[in-house]
Amino acid sequence: MLFAFCYGHISLSPMSRDRQCSQLASSLLSWFAANARDLPWRRTRDPYAIWVSEIMLQQTQVKTVIPYYDRWMRKLPTIEALAKAHPDKIHKLWEGLGYYTRVRNMQKAAQQIIAEHDGKFPQTFDAVLAFPGVGRYTAGAICSIAFNQPTPILDGNVIRVLTRVYGIKTDPREKQTNAQIWHLAGLLVNEAALPRPETLCFASRASHLNQSLMELGALLCTPRSPNCTACPVQKLCVAQKERRQDQLPNLAKREAVTKRRCIAFVVERDGKYLVRQRPEGVVNAHLWEFPNAETGARVCDPQHTTAKGWGLSITASKPLRTIIHSITRYRITLEAWRAEPAAASAKLPGHWLTPKQLDQLAFTSAHKKILAHLGAPFSKSAH
Ligand code: SF4
Repeated sequence: MLFAFCYGHISLSPMSRDRQCSQLASSLLSWFAANARDLPWRRTRDPYAIWVSEIMLQQTQVKTVIPYYDRWMRKLPTIEALAKAHPDKIHKLWEGLGYYTRVRNMQKAAQQIIAEHDGKFPQTFDAVLAFPGVGRYTAGAICSIAFNQPTPILDGNVIRVLTRVYGIKTDPREKQTNAQIWHLAGLLVNEAALPRPETLCFASRASHLNQSLMELGALLCTPRSPNCTACPVQKLCVAQKERRQDQLPNLAKREAVTKRRCIAFVVERDGKYLVRQRPEGVVNAHLWEFPNAETGARVCDPQHTTAKGWGLSITASKPLRTIIHSITRYRITLEAWRAEPAAASAKLPGHWLTPKQLDQLAFTSAHKKILAHLGAPFSKSAH
């Protein structure tokens, strides 16, 4: 059946579409061969290593991930090592990357691989997709990069590139548009995977095509001021032709930022500090922190009111440190105050640990900054 394909305002016949797809794939592959960054996870086809890198790269920049990845692969080089690792160890290795459910899901999946796949990383998309914490993007990335399967991927970078190249005007988060972009990503990777007599390096074309889209989005087709003059697909790009790069992708505005305020307490006794581990089922579960609570915006002297609730009293006239950080749409101001037990006999909930013991535990990013502020030996990393 003959039908036309519509991308934004343009309609393409199947023949034009195939030709355009083939030109795009070939330009992207040539560019990637000459310009791909030498990243540690690109030096291997080990699906475990690629999986680790893909999970770490979610919401996190490449330069931040590299030292985490190197350390992780040194300490937990195999699926078996991850499956058997103590939860404190995996949290410590992840400390600072955030979204800690990711690391717990990875361990569950590793244990699943040992139990259900005889310790070998499965090679089918559906089996990989069945792992906890693995969605369509991650399964596609692992199967294409490790096994050269033509499984499409769609992350923020790829969405930006494809909506610009095809001039897609609608919001890529909308269901129909999102399905359309997945379809385009599928056409491209399938095109790259077609056996061609002139192609020498067939064994990595699906892998390289997907990586080229991500790489183009990271290096040239950036959110602001894309470098179109250096772009390998500029002649095929609708956004470039129509000077609409800054309008695409057409993402709906995110929710407004909400401000929140928290107070934490640094309580020291005989060289030990009072800390607690966050319980199961809450944000940052299993991570460690100083006693703390959220305060209402209009509470007068919130540090004293909050300290009272913990059985503590403040011992300073100003905070030890104020940390401002963001989690999703929340902008949180955390004040750390020195405090002491309100009564000598008070039994306070939590653990009293030495600096050396604290240095072995994984803390939330904000509380890690309080530790760093307390000075050596906290400031030294245990990694
Ligand atoms: S030409 Fe410009 S807008 Fe189009 S894909 Fe390349 S960098 Fe992005």
